[in-house]
Amino acid sequence: MSTLRFKVVDEAFNRKADPVKIPAERPEKYYGMYVFNRQKMFEYLPAKTYEALCNAIDNKEPLPREVADSVAEGMKRWAIDNGARHYTHWFQPLTETTAEKHDAFIEHDGKGGVVENFTGKLLVQQEPDASSFPNGGIRNTFEARGYSAWDISSPAFILDNTLCIPTIFISYTGESLDYKTPLLRALNSLDVAATAVARLFDPDVKHVKAFLGWEQEYFLVDESLYSARPDLMLTGRTLMGHESAKNQQLEDHYFGAIPSRVEAFMLDLEIECHKLGIPAKTRHNEVAPNQFELAPVFEECNLANDHNQLIMSVMAEVARRHHFRVLLHEKPFAGINGSGKHNNWSLGTDTGTLLFAPGKTRKDNLRFIAFTVNVMAAVHRHNALLKASIMSATNAHRLGANEAPPAIISIFTGTQLADILDKIENSTNAELADLSSKEELNLNVSQIPEIILDNTDRNRTSPFAFTGNRFEFRAVGSSANCGAAMIALNAAVAEQLIEFKTNIDRRLAKGEVLTEAILEEIRELIKSSKAIHFDGNGYSDEWKEEAAKRGLDCETSTPLIFDAYQRRSSVEMFRRTGVFSEVELAARNEVKWEMYTKKVQIEARVLGDLAINHVIPVATRYQSILLDNVKKINEVFSPDKAADIAGGDMATIEKLAEHMKVIKREVAAMVDARRVANKLAGERDKAIAYHDTVVPHMDVIRYHIDKLELMVDNEMWPLPKYRELLFIR
Ligand code: ADP
Ligand code: MG
Repeated sequence: MSTLRFKVVDEAFNRKADPVKIPAERPEKYYGMYVFNRQKMFEYLPAKTYEALCNAIDNKEPLPREVADSVAEGMKRWAIDNGARHYTHWFQPLTETTAEKHDAFIEHDGKGGVVENFTGKLLVQQEPDASSFPNGGIRNTFEARGYSAWDISSPAFILDNTLCIPTIFISYTGESLDYKTPLLRALNSLDVAATAVARLFDPDVKHVKAFLGWEQEYFLVDESLYSARPDLMLTGRTLMGHESAKNQQLEDHYFGAIPSRVEAFMLDLEIECHKLGIPAKTRHNEVAPNQFELAPVFEECNLANDHNQLIMSVMAEVARRHHFRVLLHEKPFAGINGSGKHNNWSLGTDTGTLLFAPGKTRKDNLRFIAFTVNVMAAVHRHNALLKASIMSATNAHRLGANEAPPAIISIFTGTQLADILDKIENSTNAELADLSSKEELNLNVSQIPEIILDNTDRNRTSPFAFTGNRFEFRAVGSSANCGAAMIALNAAVAEQLIEFKTNIDRRLAKGEVLTEAILEEIRELIKSSKAIHFDGNGYSDEWKEEAAKRGLDCETSTPLIFDAYQRRSSVEMFRRTGVFSEVELAARNEVKWEMYTKKVQIEARVLGDLAINHVIPVATRYQSILLDNVKKINEVFSPDKAADIAGGDMATIEKLAEHMKVIKREVAAMVDARRVANKLAGERDKAIAYHDTVVPHMDVIRYHIDKLELMVDNEMWPLPKYRELLFIR
């Protein structure tokens, strides 16, 4: 009898909501209390230092060394006033989590005691050992050093009594080893390119920023149940488990009442977010049982991404306080929805205009169409790359399955925008001008605002959707660093805008009128990027066929999808925008393949172990009980009667034997496949081998284990079942 399973289920089901320490004040009082924001800078820094720092942040200028010393001193005083004892450079290596190495502020005072000290040098730059982080071979054998350098555009914060300084992380030779460095480069490139185009419409524009509003989906599982599932603990997902008779088919979880235990967790998390200056705003149940979402108010892209990285670790910590474990894996449970992290993305000028939002005048709308169409063109050209940017061993389980965006990138525009694009494509400039002067024609370009604001037919099956004043990149995985997707998207759009501006300039040089030139270019882009536009059902099989005909990338093998990073078009785009060198791209792909292999390898090991050491012994014991029973029946009854009574058991015994035989055979084959794959030299080949020859065994093993789960005595089954894991009381 599996006493452990019954014990943990009992614990989980009887757990009460934990009380939350709710601050006496309203959020505006404690919002940002752990962030060294402008208000704190003003308070703790000398006036001159404050001005110099703000100037460096606002105008992207380097910070003079003396100023750094003065900032460090003020920052230290603030940190100590708020209980900090340590400081750390906080960075985002390619491991998909953040890294930190804590140092105490203390130093010898020369008299046998200590003083708490923090200098500009320590604030600005440190040298973590790069060889301990994934680097894809970028590492001189003599020079394992890497540099972390302060990103002044993202404010320092205090987490667990430690002053955290957001930094970039680069190799000794200057190659990026993180997500932040290329993201900052992409945002810079986009700023320059988009500003040049925005100025065609408004000469006052000096900067364009990208905004990101992520929606973090996650599952919660009671900690006792979690601790009885080695697969969840070691891989973040269940590698086996028959689906629960009831899961999400009644659609009763989405936006349903939040269980009180979960509500307590959410409230606690929100308070922590607000103290850390993360503007958490929306919370609700998601489609699957035990699945939830948290979304903040959108922010400038780099800061928003830091906040997402931060929140993923804060969530884990707060969840523990409430006896939960948070699952950020894209597909923790088979057969029900997985988790994504929709990236709502838009561009805005320093003059306060959202560039993907229609305006009131004809010019505003031309600007809106121009930017929107350029995004469509960029996504079209780099659709394979954008898919690669969101792909991972874990997200692969979510994409292409029946509930998530397919493994094909397309753009949903909605009928109103589609109509406008059609109109522009199929009318001459003169006709368009004519249309805009006639009030009664509702497709007139100047009437876009009313039409678009009404855009409510939101297509949930699209991986990349226009949603009124922004695009929603929905294919991003719940555990991912949004940086990967944001680097590819912002850089691709920057490249496209550079080209657009060049073409406009060429037309202007030939004497064309600006508006006409813009319309001509827009028309060409609409035509050339048509293939990316798809408003239909992205989950349908017809779409897969249609997408292939259109020439969109339909590759489904994760290791092969990564190849898109090294295509000529990608290398060239990243070079032009200054985001990645070819060396960096090659190195980062090595890391991606290696990560893929390692993740599958760990899963395969855990699955093999659970199959042989947990499942087979239990199934054997159950089989033996049945055998005993059959034997006794035969002792008691006449042969004819015994055959009749024991017939059911006999059949079960044979079925059990069959499933166990397949499991043992498949586990052995999987181990062999791993052995062969491990001997391959290149990371790419190894990843392909894991994908093609190891994963298929895992699927078969799972299938047979899930069958056994249905047959074996419930009391003997060792692992908490889906129906127990998935419904929080
Ligand atoms: P839904 O689930 O209906 O898509 P949510 O309210 O859950 O919407 O999340 C929408 C997200 O989009 C929020 O993070 C919000 O701040 C963000 N957002 C809204 N407007 C913009 C914008 N212009 N640019 C970027 N993000 C935006
Ligand atoms: Mg949402």
